[in-house]
Amino acid sequence: MKSREVHLTAYPKGEPTPEHFKLGEADIPEPAEGEVRVVNKWLSVDPYMRGRMSGIRTYIDPFALGAPMEGGAVGQVESSNHEGFAPGDWVMSMNGWREAYVAPGQGLQKLDTTHIAPEDYLGIAGLTGMTAYVGLKRCIDLQAGESVWISAGAGAVGSAAIQFSKAMGAKVVATAGGQDKVEYCRSIGADSAVDYKSTDNLAKAVKQANEGGVDGYFENVGGTHWTAALEVLKPKGRIAACGMIQRYNDAGAQPLPDNLTNIVAKSLHIQGFIVSDHFDMLESFIGDLGAWMAAGKVTPRNTVKEGIENMPSAFMGLFSGENTGKMLVKL
Ligand code: NDP
Repeated sequence: MKSREVHLTAYPKGEPTPEHFKLGEADIPEPAEGEVRVVNKWLSVDPYMRGRMSGIRTYIDPFALGAPMEGGAVGQVESSNHEGFAPGDWVMSMNGWREAYVAPGQGLQKLDTTHIAPEDYLGIAGLTGMTAYVGLKRCIDLQAGESVWISAGAGAVGSAAIQFSKAMGAKVVATAGGQDKVEYCRSIGADSAVDYKSTDNLAKAVKQANEGGVDGYFENVGGTHWTAALEVLKPKGRIAACGMIQRYNDAGAQPLPDNLTNIVAKSLHIQGFIVSDHFDMLESFIGDLGAWMAAGKVTPRNTVKEGIENMPSAFMGLFSGENTGKMLVKL
């Protein structure tokens, strides 16, 4: 069986361009003893992948050049030489950016698709949703009746965070780029929403949207949003530092915001986190998510591109805001 796969050709300095990616092809053998052969159906597209394109180790190794890239993927077993898997089974792996692969069965997660669509295991019912959950529950420790600002509110983590915050009884102000995204944030429960692209004073706009400031800030963007959050947070406010996408394509260092003293003056609590360090919360996440979905409080939303050849453009599209909800590629 042949499988097309995407390789990284060079580590981009600044914004990645199509030249940084190349489509290759590999022969995928029959599965040996203990292995399964999987045909991918859905590929995850995530901002953290930009960090793996930098050529240096952060909390995770960089992608190797000239080899298939990696990422979340959901596929179906095509042939199996492992007693725990049968053809047709849905499985999740980190063998993304490719159409098919052979792998030992023990490294794969079998999926129950009775109540959750296979692709949503890459989004709200997977690490994306878990990220929103950890940020709200553990980092911000959000309580019913409190207020929270969710940045990149129309994105994958952001839209999950809006819905989870509402399910937890909090008041939400969301920010997103463009009127359609602002409307979407409202449609999933945000009490107010601000188009950051059409305001020249983000802090003022968010403060106006939620009189008196916010108790919590869910940081997905960084840069201008970080600076504004230090203004908007109430004394003893809490920040979940989840991501800073506005900075991921910076070629060099940027100056620090000049209002950092607010961290001291307001006794702010800032908690950075990587979702994989918080898997002890998995059971509670699954329990709450199941209950919220059953009650109609949480609805998945995906933006879907088709074909392995569109993985690079889907990835680059994250930085121009092409997605609403989770960005996925369907094969
Ligand atoms: P999203 O679905 O939110 O996609 C990215 C969005 O970011 C875009 O749609 C765009 O929305 C916004 N964006 C892109 N560039 C800029 C910019 N220059 N300024 C402002 N906004 C921008 O991605 P995810 O939900 O997957 O990830 C959201 C954040 O969470 C990222 O920072 C990511 O790195 C982080 N993350 C962290 C994890 C962790 O373990 N800590 C795990 C998973 C994700 P718009 O059109 O509104 O601008």
